[in-house]
Amino acid sequence: MISVRKQQTIAGPAMCAGVGVHSGAHVRLALTPAPADTGIVFVRSDVRGVDNAIRAHANSIGDTRNCTTIRNASGVELATVEHLMSACAGLGVDNLIVEVDGPELPILDGSSAPFVQVLLNAGLKQQHAPQRVIRILEPIEVRMGAKSAALLPMEGFEGLDMDVTIRFADPAIGVQRRRVHLTPESFLSDIADARTFGFLADAEAMRAAGLGLGASMANTLVVDSGRVVNPEGLRFDDEFVRHKMLDAVGDLAMAGAPICGRFVADQPGHALNARLVRALLDTPEAWRWEYDFDGEAIHGRAPELIAAVG
Ligand SMILES: [Zn+2]
Repeated sequence: MISVRKQQTIAGPAMCAGVGVHSGAHVRLALTPAPADTGIVFVRSDVRGVDNAIRAHANSIGDTRNCTTIRNASGVELATVEHLMSACAGLGVDNLIVEVDGPELPILDGSSAPFVQVLLNAGLKQQHAPQRVIRILEPIEVRMGAKSAALLPMEGFEGLDMDVTIRFADPAIGVQRRRVHLTPESFLSDIADARTFGFLADAEAMRAAGLGLGASMANTLVVDSGRVVNPEGLRFDDEFVRHKMLDAVGDLAMAGAPICGRFVADQPGHALNARLVRALLDTPEAWRWEYDFDGEAIHGRAPELIAAVG
């Protein structure tokens, strides 16, 4: 029997709390289920008197220098949304309300694993509406100096095929490349646990700029002159490139739907990923909406027909 990949939310409310990596602010999160076609919507519960809801979408992206900050038309902002966005996209949570009582999401352990745990503890709930996907038809590429990112058409895998390379002068990282066919299973096993990282040499400049105030070895891999400073060491030999994949999963989710295609990136970052998503949405002839039928897309079917097929 043919079935359509249905939208998902969480089965019940969930909470978590922690410190923002840049602001150092202690914040609490309340996650609640959302109706079909809501998407991921953040609500700044500490901001009153103006519209305090911010939709997780490319149109809401503000600053991308050190993390992904989103803002709404009233200028209300929320920083460091990428690791929760990655957890949602990785698990296939399409609809969610996230209330937060501060300016930045908590960094927790620097990976998406704690957010995954919160979402899985709440339970995933399938909804009636089918989930649309963005099928890449023509290549889209963006560059920033030596950095590049592209979305390409893909045959043989109904989902996002990720191929990411990073290049750092520090030999503790060096050149790392990884390829993952993104599914909830591969996200959990290969990506979700990889932590964010930074260089000890940059820490002082970051703090002087009012950034990284909540950063510590409890939430950041610290690299200094060819070694990892954290006493516990790495979770994976190539944890760094895996974290760049984690960030990309969250950043690409800003397209507003899962992407079916191949993502090839050389030295990606939030700014580059955001440019790629912008280029995607600004090039409608390079992709089309589709529904997933048991992992096999049926092109151009009307929603009524899909409902009838069930
Ligand atoms: Zn990150």
